[in-house]
Amino acid sequence: MSFQDLQKLVIKNDLCCRCGSCAGICPAQNIVFQDLLGQCLPSDLNKCINGCRLCIQVCPGYRSDVTSYQLGLGATKSIQLVRAIDKEVCRRGTSGGAVTSILAVGLNEKWWDGVLMLGYNPENPTQTMAKLLTTSIEVLDNTQSRYCVAPLNQILRKTVEGHRYAIVGLPCMLEGLDKWLAIQPKWRDRIVLKLGLLCHSTMKYGATQELLDKLEVTAHDAILQAHYREGAFPGGFKVVTHNSESKTIPLDNYMVLFNHYSLNRCRLCVDHYALHSDIAFADPFPFVDELKNGDLKWTTTVTRSYLGIEYLLRARTLGAIECRIVGDGNEKKWREKLDSIQQVHLRQIALTKKMNMPVPSMDIILPRVNFAQALLNLVRILVFQDIMLSAKQMIGRFFAGRFDPDYSRFRSTDES
Ligand SMILES: Cc1cc2nc3c(=O)[nH]c(=O)nc-3n(C[C@H](O)[C@H](O)[C@H](O)COP(=O)(O)OP(=O)(O)OC[C@H]3O[C@@H](n4cnc5c(N)ncnc54)[C@H](O)[C@@H]3O)c2cc1C
Ligand code: SF4
Ligand code: SF4
Ligand code: SF4
Repeated sequence: MSFQDLQKLVIKNDLCCRCGSCAGICPAQNIVFQDLLGQCLPSDLNKCINGCRLCIQVCPGYRSDVTSYQLGLGATKSIQLVRAIDKEVCRRGTSGGAVTSILAVGLNEKWWDGVLMLGYNPENPTQTMAKLLTTSIEVLDNTQSRYCVAPLNQILRKTVEGHRYAIVGLPCMLEGLDKWLAIQPKWRDRIVLKLGLLCHSTMKYGATQELLDKLEVTAHDAILQAHYREGAFPGGFKVVTHNSESKTIPLDNYMVLFNHYSLNRCRLCVDHYALHSDIAFADPFPFVDELKNGDLKWTTTVTRSYLGIEYLLRARTLGAIECRIVGDGNEKKWREKLDSIQQVHLRQIALTKKMNMPVPSMDIILPRVNFAQALLNLVRILVFQDIMLSAKQMIGRFFAGRFDPDYSRFRSTDES
């Protein structure tokens, strides 16, 4: 009966964030993601074990474990800008290639036996999939943010007892993982380090399809590569076909797609800052005025645990990364901005709840909302629910800057 609970309380209520934890933990291997290029939702194979509730217990769509005490940027030991010393890793990375360098040096030094992360499907490079990688070359080949859902945590099933792994995931994926480790503590020995990405929202594959349509690329063009943040920072969606033709759409031209293809669960998310990670990684936007000569290829890092500090230090000592402390003024401004964005989300959750629409259960004291805020929220819901199709582009452009600084203000001067 329990998969039916998951279906009723999470999937049908549009609260699923596609973390893949349910499919990964299911002892009957009853849960599959069939419609990967569509809704990408879990479905069952009708072999549920009676009385088992594991899938719902690990589900961040059902319940968020973030409490009022963790709000804001969360536990922070240090905030630094970090980048890969290897120029190729830095160039190919999303921000400064910090995630990729740490993962790669960890594999080379045998800090971990494998890395659990998302990358591209070699049979269809426009599609994103979960991978267990064991070489630094594979990690570099799968670098860069991919703005497309893919259930990462189902790959945990492929890990081997006695082996150690690093994992990179969005905040909800790491929350699902922590729930899993809480109810099955023997899995804890397998996970050495949790790297989290700050995340305003992610998108269904429809967004990628729309980008391909805009670039007039079809399956017949035999796509060799598809990257979402390629080129001079902040980069763009770039497709390379087998006849070596390449086409790009800059990031600021396609940010609007997030309003149309984001998940409903993202609108109701309380952890955008990877509170369940050892180190959280973000773009360098809050600190651009400290980065001289237009050299914007840096990753912002928020180290949350002593383990995070240790591995960052190890990677720096071995010459894989360089680090610089950020200015107090900019750090303060960034924290204030993140706090205010979080308040917007908390108000959305409060209102959604008030309108008797489903929200994940959570132990957070939600704010009171005035009439103007309620109206603004209603507009946001309509945009997300795709009711105002005709006004979508206009309203989308207005809201695109709410989660991040105005992308179009920043341009890297060195064409990398
Ligand atoms: C969906 C999404 C939304 C984001 N939103 C923000 C934001 O609002 N503000 C901000 O400052 N930063 C955001 N980021 C983080 C930012 O884009 C960079 O990932 C981060 O700065 C790390 O850069 P890097 O060069 O060090 O990483 P890289 O060295 O390029 O490594 C990227 C790593 O991310 C993993 N990855 C890629 N896509 C996904 C995905 N969809 N889910 C899980 N893992 C993935 C890859 O497997 C790879 O290991 C977001 C990232 C994603 C994927
Ligand atoms: S985890 Fe348990 S309850 Fe969920 S689908 Fe699998 S067998 Fe059923
Ligand atoms: S949120 Fe994660 S655990 Fe919950 S149903 Fe969706 S994929 Fe499964
Ligand atoms: S916004 Fe929250 S729910 Fe959505 S993908 Fe990011 S972490 Fe997951």
